[in-house]
Amino acid sequence: MVKNIAVIRGDGIGPEIVEQAIKVLNKVAELYGHTFDYTDVDMGGCAIDKYGDPLPESELEKCIKSDSVLLGAVGGDKWNDVPGQMRPEKGLLRLRAGMGVYSNNRPTKIWKQLADASPLKKEIVDKGIDFIIVRELIGGIYFGEHKTEGDTAVDILKYSEAEIERIGRIGFETARKRNKKLCSVEKSNVLDSSRLWKKILHRLAEEYPDVELSDMLVDNCAMQIVKNPSQFDVVVTENMFGDILSDEASMITGSIGMIPSSSLGASSCGLYEPIHGSAPDIAGKDIANPIGTILSAAMMLRFSFDMPDEADAIENAVSAYLDAGYRTADIMSYGMTQVGCEKCGDLIKSYLVK
Ligand code: NAD
Repeated sequence: MVKNIAVIRGDGIGPEIVEQAIKVLNKVAELYGHTFDYTDVDMGGCAIDKYGDPLPESELEKCIKSDSVLLGAVGGDKWNDVPGQMRPEKGLLRLRAGMGVYSNNRPTKIWKQLADASPLKKEIVDKGIDFIIVRELIGGIYFGEHKTEGDTAVDILKYSEAEIERIGRIGFETARKRNKKLCSVEKSNVLDSSRLWKKILHRLAEEYPDVELSDMLVDNCAMQIVKNPSQFDVVVTENMFGDILSDEASMITGSIGMIPSSSLGASSCGLYEPIHGSAPDIAGKDIANPIGTILSAAMMLRFSFDMPDEADAIENAVSAYLDAGYRTADIMSYGMTQVGCEKCGDLIKSYLVK
């Protein structure tokens, strides 16, 4: 199969981690007889430096025309003082909206080899942690009106029934393919948008009698993720709640550097990226963990290219690498062999077999 992948290396550790994922994808292509063509796209701080815009239309167009997009991360202190509309993160929001990817899917799973890296007590970890947060990605407060007048600032949180229904369906469909438990997270004791959210989710539940729907307030969910994470199978929530909860969830697995994500809309063209940022504190030092990006590439093969065997092969190679005792600095523990970002990519590539 021939696939065109738009590649956004971005800023900070972005270029280093994306390079490792491309290494692994090239090995997949070689083993399985595919051709992956890469189109470089500038986005984020590097695009501000080059064009004065974090995502020029021409760059967005390359992404929309591709079969899928692989992204490292964007942003950094250098661009902190850039005005709002021109900040690196605006490029990311415009990319998500431009591609129409309204559903962000973040798995939270503890690799058995990394159980010790979790900050949670062993008895909690031993119960098993394996859930997915389905986050609405192109609506809500991040996309509402923002304004500051005098000493007052306003951000609008707005959702339509249609927006809630389409992400709700992704939640139910995802749960249907797993353990059939869907937890809808909102703040319906305070927010109108959350009361609408809850109403639509319960209306949808009638179409999915095989899925058990439960409701949870977002503040309780934040507590339950650390107290009893094994209760969750699929969590579906709005944009900002999902942003915060998924970062919390990533930490209980040990390192933010391990977690991939997929963002999909109506077409098969998806956006795949690790959940962390550009980590300027460790950029250029060859110590970043590229596994979140490598696993994002695996998700791309699984969800956008319909290549489940190839995706399994990447995940098995990551597992073999961990079994062999290799660790980047963020997940290093006693008795393991510490490796850098590049070596990690080389090793995972070497463990990749058909
Ligand atoms: P961050 O995720 O970049 O870093 C948080 C901490 O985790 C840092 O200590 C960092 O060193 C560590 N870390 C992150 N990824 C790692 C990896 N792969 N391996 C090892 N350690 C890793 O979050 P931040 O520091 O709040 O943000 C830095 C910049 O990234 C900001 O400009 C922010 O706006 C941007 N950002 C971008 C995205 C994105 O591109 N999707 C997401 C979040 C933040």
